[in-house]
Amino acid sequence: TNLPLAGRNAVVTGAASGIGAAIAEQLAADGATVALVARRTDRLDDLAGKLGAGAFGVGMDVTSQDSVDHGVGVIGDRLGRVDLLVNAAGVMLAAPVEQVRLNDWTRMIDTNLTGVLRLIGAFTPDLIAAGSEGKTADLVNISSIGAHLTFPGYGVYSATKAALTHLSASLRADLSPYDVRVTNIEPGLTATELGDQLDGAGQELLATMNEQIGPLEARDIADVVAFAVSRRREVNLRQIIALPTRQA
Ligand code: NDP
Repeated sequence: TNLPLAGRNAVVTGAASGIGAAIAEQLAADGATVALVARRTDRLDDLAGKLGAGAFGVGMDVTSQDSVDHGVGVIGDRLGRVDLLVNAAGVMLAAPVEQVRLNDWTRMIDTNLTGVLRLIGAFTPDLIAAGSEGKTADLVNISSIGAHLTFPGYGVYSATKAALTHLSASLRADLSPYDVRVTNIEPGLTATELGDQLDGAGQELLATMNEQIGPLEARDIADVVAFAVSRRREVNLRQIIALPTRQA
């Protein structure tokens, strides 16, 4: 067919909701076969069913290597070689630093950074093989404008995103010799379930920001991802910041 992503085999983490779900939907609409990854398999199966085109859900907790290994096996059986990996799974927890919420900090680092590394570890050989053969191959990481901002209570979240942004830039040095593109996307305020895990005060602050700024919709970010991965393979949009117009 003439669809821009026809023949592509994609894995999207965080596909149970928000930005990851919207990306899975857009990639499937553009012709890719998509493996939808997250912990809530009921959500994944629902969405995959709506997407058709061979889309399927794979339950995976990116903080567990056993879970990742199992899911990667399922994906290999169903998809064969993966040529498009989107890391969108993430958590955002916030609290005054003096509360020393080590569990929250660890969870964010495990999900937003180590979790991404687990998936990169699993699929980089596929991406390198695809790129080396002259196929289009993409690694897309969903970082955050938080990588560049400071906001009280959000230091560890921001640090995970700053690390991810730098990781994306660094990995281009490893992967560009194999013609694998690395694209780092930094969304601003976007309406998703991300803030649902904040405490009452955190949710209030987020609600005020939403009122003042007017958040993006998840599909706005999906648009950007679909654009980046459908350029000709000689073009790598390595860093894209996508903000609501009113977010200064
Ligand atoms: P959501 O909370 O809607 O989506 C997060 C997704 O990650 C869910 O599908 C969730 O599914 C999945 N997830 C969380 N933990 C794990 C885990 N341990 N293993 C596997 N999957 C997991 O929020 P968003 O869509 O907003 O978040 C997507 C990404 O976008 C995140 O990385 C976030 O940091 C980033 N981002 C969001 C912004 C915003 O304003 N919303 C701004 C900038 C960046 P499940 O719970 O079923 O596992």
